[in-house]
Amino acid sequence: MLDTFRHKGLRKQLVADIRLKGIISETVLKALEIVPRHYFLDSSFLEFAYQDKPFPIGSGQTISQPFTVAFQTELLQLKHGMRVLEIGTGSGYQACILAELGCKVFTVERQRKLFLKTRDLLQQMPYKVQVFLGDGYKGLPTYAPFDRILITAAAPEIPKDLIDQLKPDGILVIPFGGGDEQDMLRITVDANKQLHTEKFGAFRFVPMLQNLGND
Ligand code: SAH
Repeated sequence: MLDTFRHKGLRKQLVADIRLKGIISETVLKALEIVPRHYFLDSSFLEFAYQDKPFPIGSGQTISQPFTVAFQTELLQLKHGMRVLEIGTGSGYQACILAELGCKVFTVERQRKLFLKTRDLLQQMPYKVQVFLGDGYKGLPTYAPFDRILITAAAPEIPKDLIDQLKPDGILVIPFGGGDEQDMLRITVDANKQLHTEKFGAFRFVPMLQNLGND
């Protein structure tokens, strides 16, 4: 895998574009400038890697739009060393952004083919991301609790198991809704298990499905 000056230049432009669209966290912008997004797309699609667009990654799934990755990451208010659970590994790009920010990342994918492909790819990256095959609705009880949980698929309900796996004052970021568009929610769970919900506009994600799948 090569990361040329041309790729780095394209990445800088992409980050400038995302900054103009309203992302203000310098650490998040820096992470997007560092992680080579083209590693996560099939090589014949190189020229698409640095456009601010989602892109198909096989098995009917997409790598999220860079702006959306930055937006969700910013909402998480991450600190170095935090334990973060991602639901929906997909290409593995978002997981690497979280790892580049110094988090200990656990990520769950329900599609076996994608899980195998992405696990292999992540072994070649300089990050220690732990990838699991499983149903994200159930989370990872053995590795809980987490400081942050990020869902990268459209969830028609707030998964209760995930709320239970958050530390006090933990944050869940979730595209919520079963229709074409979802509301981006940030849910903070306080020490008394009370949920505080903030809403951040409409986004479009592929659906969060139940159980394992080979579709
Ligand atoms: N974060 C990814 C993009 C995710 S697309 C990236 O950076 O590329 C959403 C992913 O969620 C898809 O790969 C889909 O298969 C997966 N998914 C859907 N429902 C799921 C579930 N219940 N548990 C785990 N993964 C799920």
